[in-house]
Parts: sequence; structure tokens; C-alpha cells
Amino acid sequence: DELPAPMQENIRRRDRSLGPGYRLFYDKPLEIVRGKGVTLFDREGNEYLDVYNNVPSVGHAHPRVIDAVHQQMQTLNTNTRYVQESILNYSEQLLSTLPAQLGHVMFTCTGSEANDLAMRVAKYATGNQGVIVTAGAYHGLTAEVASFSPSLGAGVPLGANVRVIDAPDALRYSSDQSTLDDHLRTQVRAAIADLQRHGIGLAAFIADSIFSSDGIFAGPAGFLRPIIEEVHAAGGLYIADEVQPGFGRTGEEWWGFQRHGIVPDIVTMGKPMGNGIPIAAAVFKPELLVEFGKNIRYFNTFGGNSVAIAAAQAVLDVIRDESLMKNSLKVGVKIQTELRQLTQGLEQVAETRGSGLFVGVDIVTDASSLTPDGDTAARIVNELREERILISASGAQGNVLKLRPPMSFSMNDADRLIEALDRSLRRLH
Ligand code: PMP
Repeated sequence: DELPAPMQENIRRRDRSLGPGYRLFYDKPLEIVRGKGVTLFDREGNEYLDVYNNVPSVGHAHPRVIDAVHQQMQTLNTNTRYVQESILNYSEQLLSTLPAQLGHVMFTCTGSEANDLAMRVAKYATGNQGVIVTAGAYHGLTAEVASFSPSLGAGVPLGANVRVIDAPDALRYSSDQSTLDDHLRTQVRAAIADLQRHGIGLAAFIADSIFSSDGIFAGPAGFLRPIIEEVHAAGGLYIADEVQPGFGRTGEEWWGFQRHGIVPDIVTMGKPMGNGIPIAAAVFKPELLVEFGKNIRYFNTFGGNSVAIAAAQAVLDVIRDESLMKNSLKVGVKIQTELRQLTQGLEQVAETRGSGLFVGVDIVTDASSLTPDGDTAARIVNELREERILISASGAQGNVLKLRPPMSFSMNDADRLIEALDRSLRRLH
């Protein structure tokens, strides 16, 4: 059916004023006017179950975040050039969630800026320029960070210093850990050798710890280890991009890299950090910042300002007080278990995978070729949207259903999601 007239008019106004660089979700776009918990509301008052948005990770319009921001806004909002106890309290608490080797945190407004700073420090500390990423990686929007974000496609050329390795796709490269490890080790060695052949030393390997844009690859746990061994042997650093999996979403741990039993040299984070208030960060092994700190004055006007820190503190408090990590794990296990049951024998669903409330469902044309089927995935995404359940798709071919709700997603919410997915998937038979 047709979009409501006011919505059509707003889409025309949007095109006129925002221009052609933006995209809308869904064949039938949504106009959202309000959010609460895991629910979004459109102009007509229809409710949508949010199974997509990880930024409001403690839930849309969480009262504790609102209060914290409101109170801080009434008191003071200023920058990191003044001593403020709130940023010290927050930094100490944030660092306590990370391995002890990671000792300094620097604040930015976006994940892109955090990755930009991380790479700048990595290049400075190693004296090298080379960067290795996975084939479907996205790390952000600055010119520098876009140059190592292959998911942006042919319109955004990779830097001459950038090499790409396969995504850790255990389904397609192997189902057996040692074979996947060997595959990844061979890939990263070849990338390092190719950089060397061009006279480029390795500065860093950077990876989203859950490989969201690559297609969501959480396991088998440990597959990052051989890559990092090779990277360190070549004198490079390992940057864990936690913008998507961070802050407990994967359920078992605070950070996605932890499931691989490794310690990064730098960790970046963003999206859920302030539940929608712009705050992001890069965390470093202190030794990496010694020379950088002597020679480079770093000031980010809004990064880590008083209000952003108040929001971030409230988010940390809510994750703990509402046991959202435990919830992520419990509800995530239920979603994966029930999806596996209902897709058994359905050859277009090659695999359900993920960790906590970050679940991918790999849609293929058939079980023997495992050819990614982005069209069918898009159809499912749009069918669910018609049922007012909001999901998305990722992966190089857009063939992996992405289920990534706020961490307050309940068992009942999961039932609603699974029933809708069941109806949609059944049409594949
Ligand atoms: N890294 C990853 C893995 C991301 O998913 C994103 C955003 N989609 C970014 C970095 C960039 O973050 P931002 O949009 O806040 O700049």
C-alpha cells in the first residue's frame, strides 16, 4: 500500500534539502517520531519492534540517561582542557573493563574519529604505513578511515598502503578450526609480504571484533589469534574495533575481542557508548602514546565533554544495574537456538551464528553452493518491516540477516521476532 501523504511530502523535502548522499532504510521507508525501550513509534502511532539499533543499547529514551544528560546540561558542559572529576571517574571505570595492559583512554565524538586517531597513533608508534583489513570491513567515514573500509565499494578506492584478507567465514572456508586458522594465517602472511614487496612496513591490522559488515563472524573463538601472531611478528599493531560488539552486547564479556583470548594494542569504541549522545573513544597501551604525546597536541572540542561523559557514565551504570550483559547472553542464546530449530532442513538458511544479542542468519541459494542470496535476505527484511519488526542485513552480498536489538530485548520480544521470522522463512519452502 501507498505511503501516507505527509510522509511522501517529507521524503521530497528530504531529497531537496539533504541532497543525494543519504539513504533510507526499507523499500517502504519509515518516519519515526518516538522511541521507548525496544519500541519505535511512527507518526500514526504504530509500534515497531526494534531488532536493529545498537546505539540505544540500554533502550530508547532510557530515563537514567535522560536524567544524567539533563542534569549535566543544567550544570556545566565543557571540554577536556579543564580538570573534571566526572571524566576521571568514568575513565577509570571504563579502563577497569579492559585488560590491564590498556591504560590510557582518549575521547572523540564518533567511531570514525576514534579509528582515525588509533591508526594515526599506530603509524606514529611503528613508523610504518601499512594497514590490513578484512574484505568486507567498515571502519568509518573520514578520508583516512574510508581508505581502509573496503565495504564502501569501488566508489571509495583503498589506499595504496592497504591490503585486504578474507573475512573469517568459517562456513565457507572450513568448519574446522585448524583449517580456518591456516587459511587466515596464510592470507595475512601474503598481505604482509605484498606490503613488504612494495616497501611498506606494517602499521596495523584493524578488525571489527564481530565482523559485522563482513557478515557477522563470532566464532570459532580464537580464530583471531594466528592473525595477531603474524601481525606482531611483522612489527605491526592490532587495533580491535569494538564500535559494534562493545559494551557487553556479545553477552559473555564486555568486549568482542575477549572471546578470542587476545589483548589488542589499541581498542576503539563508539555507537552504544552514550546511548545516542555522541561519544566514542580509543584506548591504548600507554607505551604507544609516549612519543605521540610529546609531539602532538590532541584536542577534540566536543570529544568527552561533560554531557557526553554523563551519558556514558549512565550507560555503564545501567548495563551493570540492569544486568544487560546477562540478558544479552540469555536472550541471544534463545534466539540462536530457536532459529536453528526452525530452519533445520531449510537449505536457504546456511547458518545461524553470533554471540549474545548480535545474531546473523546466512541466506544462500542452496546448501551445496552456499552462494550468498542478498535478494532473498532483502525480501525477508522488507517482509518483517511490513510486520513492524525492524531488522537489517549485512555481509558483502547483503545476504546475512542482522539481528542486533537494544540489549534490553526480552524473552517475549524474542518470541515475537522468531514468530515473524518463522512466517517469512516458511515462504522459502
Ligand atoms: N567501526 C565500525 C565497525 C562501525 O560499524 C562504524 C559505524 N557503522 C564505525 C566504525 C564508524 O562509527 P561512526 O559512524 O560513529 O563514525
